Amino acid sequence: METHSADVAIIGAGGAGLRAAIALAQSAPSLRIALISKVYPMRSHTCAAEGGAAGVIKPDDSLEHHFNDTVGGGDWLSDQDAVDYFIREAPTELLQLEHWGCPWSREADGSVAVRPFGGMKKQRTWFAADKSGFHILHTLFQTSLQFPSIQRFDEFYATDLLVEDGRCVGLTAIEMRSGQMRWFDARAVIIAGGGAGRMFPFTTNGAIKTGDGMALAYRAGVPLKDMEFVQYHPTGLPSTGTLLTEACRGEGGVLLNKNGRRFLQDYGMGPETPLGKPVLKTMELGPRDRVSQAFWHEQRKGNAIATRWGDAMLLDMRHLGEKTINERLPLVRDMSISYMGVDPVTDPVPVRPVVHYMMGGIHTDINAATSLPGLYAAGECACVSINGANRLGSNSLTELLVFGRRAAVSALEYLQQGGRPAGGAALAEAAQARVRELVQRTGGTESVAGLRKEMMQAMEEHAGIYRSGEGLAAACAKLGELRQRYRRIELHDKTNVYNTDLLQALELGSMLDCAEAVVQSAAARKESRGAHQRLDFPGRDDRQFLRHSLAAYAGEGPPRVSYRDVVITRSPPGVRDYSGGHE
Ligand SMILES: Cc1cc2nc3c(=O)[nH]c(=O)nc-3n(C[C@H](O)[C@H](O)[C@H](O)COP(=O)(O)OP(=O)(O)OC[C@H]3O[C@@H](n4cnc5c(N)ncnc54)[C@H](O)[C@@H]3O)c2cc1C
Repeated sequence: METHSADVAIIGAGGAGLRAAIALAQSAPSLRIALISKVYPMRSHTCAAEGGAAGVIKPDDSLEHHFNDTVGGGDWLSDQDAVDYFIREAPTELLQLEHWGCPWSREADGSVAVRPFGGMKKQRTWFAADKSGFHILHTLFQTSLQFPSIQRFDEFYATDLLVEDGRCVGLTAIEMRSGQMRWFDARAVIIAGGGAGRMFPFTTNGAIKTGDGMALAYRAGVPLKDMEFVQYHPTGLPSTGTLLTEACRGEGGVLLNKNGRRFLQDYGMGPETPLGKPVLKTMELGPRDRVSQAFWHEQRKGNAIATRWGDAMLLDMRHLGEKTINERLPLVRDMSISYMGVDPVTDPVPVRPVVHYMMGGIHTDINAATSLPGLYAAGECACVSINGANRLGSNSLTELLVFGRRAAVSALEYLQQGGRPAGGAALAEAAQARVRELVQRTGGTESVAGLRKEMMQAMEEHAGIYRSGEGLAAACAKLGELRQRYRRIELHDKTNVYNTDLLQALELGSMLDCAEAVVQSAAARKESRGAHQRLDFPGRDDRQFLRHSLAAYAGEGPPRVSYRDVVITRSPPGVRDYSGGHE
């Protein structure tokens, strides 16, 4: 098998992976860095982010405010030492991007502009119009090109982590163009594989977000943390699930029910505030979990409008005027016209909640290290955990930078401590044999598309905005059944070159692992907190559940769920209040 030796191999070339690669290359020019991605780096999901990245920069803001918003927004499930590190590093990272050429939008006086964002009680979201992710990713990508020590492996699909003597010693990946397996013999590995929203049928997530990174770590023995917390974004286009960024509301857009009422005032997010200048803390700038839950209740009261794609509410931006919409939200206007045939300058746009983000992921410590020596994780695939039970919009892009860099520093420290056991060849051969068996298998009775559809249905029906014990029990049984049936899939395409049938089968395997961790962790958490709402346990229960869940891979059976304490340094659990207060 063709082998590539590296000091550090990085799985994923989105925001987190590229930031890690740059940090490694800058600190030690002789380091051999392998950057492995199943798509060309600029096609990573980071590119799709619209609204912006949070970091304290304005004089009326403070680190304390950012800390309190993040911890309260996360319903006190965030580790507060990690949040402290994150908010302190955030402005430095965003300024660093500026120096690398990121074209942040500006105030009239030339300083960096910030916009309001949901759950952030001060304005601190840096943005580049409504194409922030594109510009961030582009800046990172062009910066990475300066470093010859970063060797890229675009369109390589990572299949297995190699673990020998209790350490991570590399990985295997399929070169998609040839279908050949490659062995990456690496001294340390960083996973930056992104989220897993594709487990659900209606999501803002790009097709590549299938939880591969999470599943790789999970199968190698690293638990997945807080997987029950799946974020719904309140404003997706009903036709496609395409996101209309929270910046629509940050700029002053309002949400209306079918009677033209700004319904959020009826869900503890009032009082109603005047149109025009957005008032922080209230109404449309409530956090995503609360706004999505309000939608659910309005729908049940019969207050939704009917569209050919199902129930929706209206996002009204008309009062912002054409000039502001064109300057601040050009992509939103384009997408509303293209996908819904509605121009936000003249008409309100129908929207509905849509699966957007995984708060949970690979369990790491505050230094982005996993429990497996030699393995690190950062970005959406990781749970470090700053987002707790509900991420605030615009914290994620900053998280990629802060913890992408942190993972690189930790990997370097690990390398400096010495070597790792030789080996990995036999493990790589075994991984290759497994994939070969899957491709060549005949007599299978199950199809990838069929199982994927059943998985998505179970997730949509039972693991959505509101959940119940009964529904989750059904989902656990279904996911267990699908795990068994997955062993009997057969591929239609048994060839080598760009075998997308094979890749989709492997991606389905990843999604099934992640989905089972979600429903098992959700079934075990008998309380409501943040994005995890149980109809049968409507209250938050700090006595029993102010703890992170850890889902550990158990081979033939469902994952084992255990708990770990939340790190609380200075903010004891309190009441989340978004009911008033003018900035
Ligand atoms: C539409 C949309 C808008 C958003 N807007 C915002 C926003 O305004 N502000 C904000 O803070 N957050 C936003 N988010 C969230 C944020 O963009 C993501 O959480 C973040 O970009 C994830 O970055 P990442 O580096 O972790 O992963 P990604 O950018 O998703 O990259 C994952 C990488 O892993 C690679 N990979 C995955 N599996 C494999 C495999 N098996 N083998 C090899 N490579 C693999 C992929 O090729 C890719 O390069 C948004 C998300 C979406 C979907």
